[in-house]
Amino acid sequence: MPTLGIDLGGTNARAAVVDERGQILAAAKMALTERSPAAVVESIAQAAAEAVALAGVKVAGCGVGAAGQIPGDSGVLAVAPNLGWRNVPLGGLLRERLGLPVRLVNDLAAAAWGEFNAGAGRGAQDVYVSFVGSGVGSCIIANGQLVRGAGGVAGELGHTKVIPGGRRCGCGELGCLEAYSGGHNLIALTQELLASGRSSVLNELTAGVAERITPLTLERAAEAGDPGAVEIHARAGKMLGTAIANMVTVLNPARLILGGGVLMNCPGLRRYVVEAVQSQTSNTAREGLLIAEAELGDDSGLIGAALLG
Ligand SMILES: [Zn+2]
Repeated sequence: MPTLGIDLGGTNARAAVVDERGQILAAAKMALTERSPAAVVESIAQAAAEAVALAGVKVAGCGVGAAGQIPGDSGVLAVAPNLGWRNVPLGGLLRERLGLPVRLVNDLAAAAWGEFNAGAGRGAQDVYVSFVGSGVGSCIIANGQLVRGAGGVAGELGHTKVIPGGRRCGCGELGCLEAYSGGHNLIALTQELLASGRSSVLNELTAGVAERITPLTLERAAEAGDPGAVEIHARAGKMLGTAIANMVTVLNPARLILGGGVLMNCPGLRRYVVEAVQSQTSNTAREGLLIAEAELGDDSGLIGAALLG
């Protein structure tokens, strides 16, 4: 029977009815006008009802992918920075409201599960998924199972330390990979470069407007040979590449799936990662490894959540 998948972001709740093969039968979206748990549950319920009505089928269960920390199968969103929540039992609240069994997982795990079952991971059993968007996330699937860790935070590649005592990360700790290679920090570092007045190329690309900067702006400035941009860009690419290559050496996946806005939109950064994996993983771990791009785009989390539901 089809299931319901929910992708809970910071501004929208998306819902989709998905069949057993991972095909979306119908989808709907609701803006989160208010961020109290009760209001968010209501927005999710409305999106879900619309998707189910559009699909015209019954659903067997519901999976929810949400940004934040979710210990085990507790159904509790322990920390959700996007929504400003702590210890919200979202799984239980939705179970009551929807009258369906609900499984709550981290948004990245949901996206990885979607790619594993219906996207770039099809046919493999051991997969490592690396998503680089505003943050740097990753997910381990070993022997066909999601590896979640004792506290539900396995795969947090972005918070491995690349420079002990280095730049402060959004998580509050120092020297995390994400502080150098995550999209949010790439923008911040590029804005600092623009503000320093040392980059005429950046000044030209943005007309001096810091808000116009994206990770792709940095990549264009680096390609144009701007020394400051080259430094930030190359450092981000090399750190990310080495970190991912080391994960491949440790985990020996059959497939490495690369995705997320930064890796999909910045071919230069992706090239650093692919080259690092080709030159820095151990020979034995590289044997038979396939590097693939994520295939499901924005729908990976919706599909994965539904398949977990
Ligand atoms: Zn961190």
